[in-house]
Amino acid sequence: MKKIALVTGGSRGIGRSICVKLAEMGYHLLINYKSNEAEALHTKQLCEEKNVEAEIIRFDVGNKDEVELKLGAWLEEAGKEKIIEVLVNNAGIRQDTLLAFMNDEQWNSVLDTSLHGMFVVTRLVIKPMLMNRYGRVINMVSLSGLKGMPGQVNYSAAKAGMIGATKALAQEVAPRKVTVNAIAPGFISSDMTADLDEAELNKMIPMKRFGKPEEVAELAGFLASEKAAYITGQVISINGGLYT
Ligand code: NAP
Repeated sequence: MKKIALVTGGSRGIGRSICVKLAEMGYHLLINYKSNEAEALHTKQLCEEKNVEAEIIRFDVGNKDEVELKLGAWLEEAGKEKIIEVLVNNAGIRQDTLLAFMNDEQWNSVLDTSLHGMFVVTRLVIKPMLMNRYGRVINMVSLSGLKGMPGQVNYSAAKAGMIGATKALAQEVAPRKVTVNAIAPGFISSDMTADLDEAELNKMIPMKRFGKPEEVAELAGFLASEKAAYITGQVISINGGLYT
């Protein structure tokens, strides 16, 4: 039986680093992406360099029908040969604007990707984990979901929703040795933060710098490991001391 880690939004940024870390730990990778196939293939190559198997799978986590069609078919074909032991709900987007000017699309797309995406993907993957009596679910949330950020009412709501879901699901599945935790990064260098004024923001971060995707991946790797068996329902911040 092959042990698989599924990382949503694994084509770039934090998701890519997590894929590579899990590959180093010996997991075979199922790398989800939405549209950027070239980047997804690059992540696949980086994982294969760690001597594991990696495959890419395209679906929009916010589109229930697509998730059920694509991931459902993968799970059916996998049968008992492949088991997803680690799920990282990492896919996320920003659509920042003040609430007074926020249109429906800006609200829905952010909620659909983070919160609804986590729901539809986890619902499919959790059942085999429960049957296997082992699993790790890691939800990528944000400082915004803990603190609330002006200009990000949609994003803050999506991430805060994921935090509540993390805590509730953790209690549902703990008896079957499945853990569910959330990681709340502060500012991490990636395409998502490329448009921000890093020099200006660094002034308010006690560490005086943005974090690196690899640093988030180290935390994800620990939570995904067997060593983290007694940690569940937690939200762990990684933010250079910005907010705790
Ligand atoms: P990123 O560099 O913008 O990468 C986003 C990833 O998500 C890409 O792989 C993208 O796929 C994928 N994605 C976006 N929408 C998707 C969808 N509907 N279905 C499937 N995949 C989708 O972002 P990042 O900075 O690595 O962020 C990763 C996660 O960390 C997000 O949840 C984000 O909210 C969270 N986070 C980031 C920071 C930060 O400072 N960077 C801070 C706190 C939390 P394609 O390549 O196909 O577009």
